[in-house]
Amino acid sequence: MPELTTSLSDRTAVITGSAQGIGLEIARLLGSHGARVVLADMNGQKAEETATLLRADGIQAVPIECDVTDESAVDAVVDKAQREFDTLDIWVNNAGITRDASLRKMTLEDFRLVVDVHLTGTWLGVRAASAVMRERKAGSIVNISSISGKVGNLGQTNYSAAKAGIVGLTKAAAKELARSNVRVNAVQPGLILTDMTRAMPPEVFERMEASIPLERAGTPTEVAGAVLFLASDLSSYMTGGVIEVAGGRMM
Ligand code: NAD
Repeated sequence: MPELTTSLSDRTAVITGSAQGIGLEIARLLGSHGARVVLADMNGQKAEETATLLRADGIQAVPIECDVTDESAVDAVVDKAQREFDTLDIWVNNAGITRDASLRKMTLEDFRLVVDVHLTGTWLGVRAASAVMRERKAGSIVNISSISGKVGNLGQTNYSAAKAGIVGLTKAAAKELARSNVRVNAVQPGLILTDMTRAMPPEVFERMEASIPLERAGTPTEVAGAVLFLASDLSSYMTGGVIEVAGGRMM
């Protein structure tokens, strides 16, 4: 039985989409609990700036440019983590985009792009990370879904489908990998203050916020808290689980 602690010292964590927003705060929180973090983001320049920022706080952080829909780019992240830090213990599939539109207006391209980044990107990450973790007989994979995948959101047929798909992928992978002591869990954030939600029309944001039992939007750090729990040994008996971080919205 592992010791139940949030300490991640001597562990290496890859976080996709971590140049900003929720991914950045996940990297910061895991790093402040001792993890060495690999920041994998399509925006390589910003990932580099973020790594510099985290290093100034004493966190061992390395950036790598990676489009999560690109199979060889995802495999290169695994290589980079092992080359820099020898191990790969935690993988967080967080990279994401939105292309909201009603069914009347959504193009096939917008549907495919959103499904590709969230669902194919997460599948590529799970496959690449688990190949290493399975051999080591240890590891924790955390997939960032969304409440939108639980209840479906207006104007998000692409995003809701992808985020619901991530739950199915999480559970199927959890069943396959449990015998190798690799855990796979998901987090479903609600309305969180980041660039993604700042892009929403203010009246839509306000309407959503008004429906939250805790009466406010969440912060990226509050999502990171659930990821820390799932990444660490505190959750050693959890796999295939889905944690909502939504202030009670759509509970
Ligand atoms: P954000 O837009 O602030 O950051 C997303 C990051 O992902 C960016 O750094 C971007 O460069 C990167 N990215 C985008 N496409 C990529 C790709 N193909 N490959 C690699 N990196 C890529 O978004 P956020 O709000 O921090 O969202 C992070 C995750 O949380 C997403 O999966 C999102 O769907 C999910 N989420 C967010 C909210 C919210 O309210 N903000 C709610 C539920 C779920």
